[in-house]
Order: sequence, then C-alpha cells, then structure tokens
Amino acid sequence: MQAAVIAIHGGAGTITRAAMDAVREREYIEALQHVLQAGQRILADGGSALDAVTEAVRLLEECPLFNAGKGAVLTHAGTYELDAAVMDGTTLDAGAVACVTRLRNPVLAARAVLEHSEHVLFAGAGAEAFAQAQGLELVAPDYYFTQARHEQWQRARGNAGMALLDHDAAALAAQAKAEPIDPDNKFGTVGAVACDGSGNLAAATSTGGVTNKQVGRVGDTPVIGAGCYADDVAAVSATGTGEMFIRTVAAYDVSAQMRYAGLSLEESARRVVMEKLQAIQGRGGLIAVDRAGNVTLPFNTEGMYRGFARVGEAVNVSIYG
Ligand code: ASP
Repeated sequence: MQAAVIAIHGGAGTITRAAMDAVREREYIEALQHVLQAGQRILADGGSALDAVTEAVRLLEECPLFNAGKGAVLTHAGTYELDAAVMDGTTLDAGAVACVTRLRNPVLAARAVLEHSEHVLFAGAGAEAFAQAQGLELVAPDYYFTQARHEQWQRARGNAGMALLDHDAAALAAQAKAEPIDPDNKFGTVGAVACDGSGNLAAATSTGGVTNKQVGRVGDTPVIGAGCYADDVAAVSATGTGEMFIRTVAAYDVSAQMRYAGLSLEESARRVVMEKLQAIQGRGGLIAVDRAGNVTLPFNTEGMYRGFARVGEAVNVSIYG
C-alpha cells in the first residue's frame, strides 16, 4: 500500500496576513480542511486518485470563496466563462472543457469527456451539449454570481481595463478598504492532485479565469500540460497568469524535468515556478505529487490557498508564504 496523499489549492496571488481578517481567514481554512478531509476519505476507502481529485475540485467549485463554479469571476462583458480539466496519470486519459457558461460543475463535464468521449477538449456550446447528454446539471448564469466577484469586476473595469488574477483583485480591494486578500490580485482557480494507494496519480483544475478577461479568452486551466497534467511520474495542478503557464507548458514541465533530467519533484517544481515562470513575469504557483507520495506546493506570489492530507494523518492547510 502506497502512501496515499491528496493536495489542493484555491488559487494564488496577493494574499497578505495584514489584509486578511480573522473571520475570513477561518472561512478559507475551514473550506480547505473540509475538502481535504473528503479527498482523504476517498483515498482511505481505497478510492482512486482520479475519484479523489474530481470530488475535491467539485467541492471547491461548490464553495463561493473560490473562483471556480459558484463564485467564478466575470469577463469584461460581465458574463461567466469557465474552464476545467482532469487527467489520469496511469492511462494518460484526459478530459477538459473551455468557455462553458451553463455548467454547474465544469470538472464533472471534464471527467465525462475523459470517460465517455474519444476527444480531449470541448469548448462552449458543444461542451455544454455533451455534458447535458451525459446527464450533468445545467444552471442559469446567475448561479455563479457572488457580490464580491461582481464588485471586483467593477473595480477591474475601472482599472484601465486590466485583466486581474482573482486574489490580486481581492488585494486591490484590500488596499482600498482593508479587506482580506487583494480581491483584484489573486488567482482563485482551484485544483487537486493525488497519489492513491496503488501509486496511481491524477490531477484536476477548474477556474472562472482572470477577472475582466476578454470574452472567449481561454487560460491554462483546460490546456493539458499547462494548468493540469498527470502521468506516471507526477500529477500537477497550477494557478496563476494562465498565458505564462501555457507558454512554459508549466504542468508538463514538472514531470518532464523529473523524467529526463532526474530532478526531484520539489526541485523540478521550484524551477518551473521560481525560474521559468518568473523569467517571463509569470505569477502564481502549483501543487504536485509524485508516485512516492512526495508533495510540493511552490508559489511566487505573496500567498496561495493550499493544503495536503495523507491518509491516516492530520490535514495541513496554509495561506501565506
Ligand atoms: N490560471 C487561471 C487562468 O489564467 C487563473 C487563476 O489561476 O486564477 O485562467
């Protein structure tokens, strides 16, 4: 029996202790603990890494604190466009959806693509039609609405039309009115990676994207190898300025450096986040596990909502650097 473990993230960005109030901090910590415990239970019961990451990300999508599913950020036009991906490291099976506007849980649609389609990535209306045919729940766009994201979008629009990471957006707001996280400068994407008791790896990532993004923009999240990747070496889920993660093929590169250069999980992930991404001003972080159950959670921003849980051990949750 392998050292089964699950790790999750709820996005990275300008998350500073000074700007976070105690109540808000508790909410985030409890939400992360709850999700980790659910993933831990699946692994403890002999469930697969794929099931554990799918359920963890589904729960994160259901939680309005994070920029995925309910609580997603808005596009420049004030609409919602969500992306998600899932990958099974043992088979290299993968499924992803991009620019979906009516799916309650994009990660379940990604999982359905993985299981029931010969294709890997569906976008827009076709993705929704596929998900609906698979019996998944559709919602009206206002399902995703949260007051906080709406205010953040209004600020971002006023901010020279910049597209902002969710948590960075929160931090801008913090400066303005002493809120927790710069709501305008954080990347609230969510993700999970796991190694199950048989040593199988899996990864899942889901997002509303960046605040005030152009309509039709797709980030790294549903791009296999950029924001989500799993093989028999490592499973990786990323959060941050998606364009840079696409350009560095960030998630895949963690595994590739281990495979081809013999680096450890930790060193490989550090190079991607602290060197390769930084070199092109890429901001954010990632979570990764390998077959031995090692876990690493590097980020180059002020904070990243993150945690991991090994079967039979207490859960670990952190926010700041
Ligand atoms: N990586 C996501 C994107 O670019 C944003 C995030 O991580 O919050 O769509």
